[in-house]
Amino acid sequence: SAKAMRKNVLKPNWNFKDLGIGGLDDEFATIFRRAFASRLFPADVIEQLGLHHVKGILLYGPPGTGKTLIARQIGKLLESREPKVVNGPEVLNKYVGASEEAIRALFKDAEEDYKANGENADLHLIIFDEIDAICKARGSVRDSTGVQDTIVNQLLSKIDGVNSLNNILVIGMTNRKDLLDEALLRPGRLEVHVEISLPNKKGRKQIFEIHTRKMKESGRLDPEIDFDELAELTKNFSGAEIEGLVRAAVSHALYSHIDASKMGSGAIDASAADDIIVTMNEFRM
Ligand code: ATP
Repeated sequence: SAKAMRKNVLKPNWNFKDLGIGGLDDEFATIFRRAFASRLFPADVIEQLGLHHVKGILLYGPPGTGKTLIARQIGKLLESREPKVVNGPEVLNKYVGASEEAIRALFKDAEEDYKANGENADLHLIIFDEIDAICKARGSVRDSTGVQDTIVNQLLSKIDGVNSLNNILVIGMTNRKDLLDEALLRPGRLEVHVEISLPNKKGRKQIFEIHTRKMKESGRLDPEIDFDELAELTKNFSGAEIEGLVRAAVSHALYSHIDASKMGSGAIDASAADDIIVTMNEFRM
């Protein structure tokens, strides 16, 4: 059954670097303990303990720190259906009434799956990016026509409805937890809150290693690169910014093999492609 398979996949000692996520081991462990563990046990044990599966998780913190990566990885580890990802501002920008309908539609597949298959239904993951756009504190929006409040109410009632279904997990993401309607964050709703902050030095080193792994394996990474030094030099960088830096270094390596005086394919000496090695020298200060 799907449940038994999930059990095999969920080992608490995952290698996070293999999952492509750097520097977030503790955060992932928290999510595991609070939001996954109960899904490993048979439904009757959980019922005897009077426990409900966590229905919702809030990941909050600065942009580009890996919130989306984690949310998708959770889906993979729990063997959910392909996650439905919605962008808060997009839902909000629909015409009156359509936003509520969009939210209703998000939950529909999961509800039907549960109706048909009960406890054997698949897990359905619903990811709200920039959830603050649709879930601002009710009454807080100036000149409000009440439209926003209706959307918040619709979302809350959908999440509350999950009570009777075991197959839905909602993950909300935001850079502005302070703007969110308190009601959304209560137990039974998005009750597990995990801060995803900027990576520390060890995390930055891991992120560098993750994003250079392929070039390293194919011998296209300068073996002299000192990732400890690079991690030291990139204080306050987010994971996305480190990935950007690596991409810039790759462009640099490619560009140095182009004869800019020629246009088109003539600009590249095919035999030179073997020499393309990525260094990070240009970023050393
Ligand atoms: P936002 O709040 O802007 O939506 P986010 O926190 O969801 O940002 P992601 O979309 O997960 O950020 O990160 C963007 C990209 O940056 C990722 O696809 C990944 O390539 C890289 N990245 C960010 N954080 C990490 C990390 N901790 N480990 C490895 N790669 C990372």
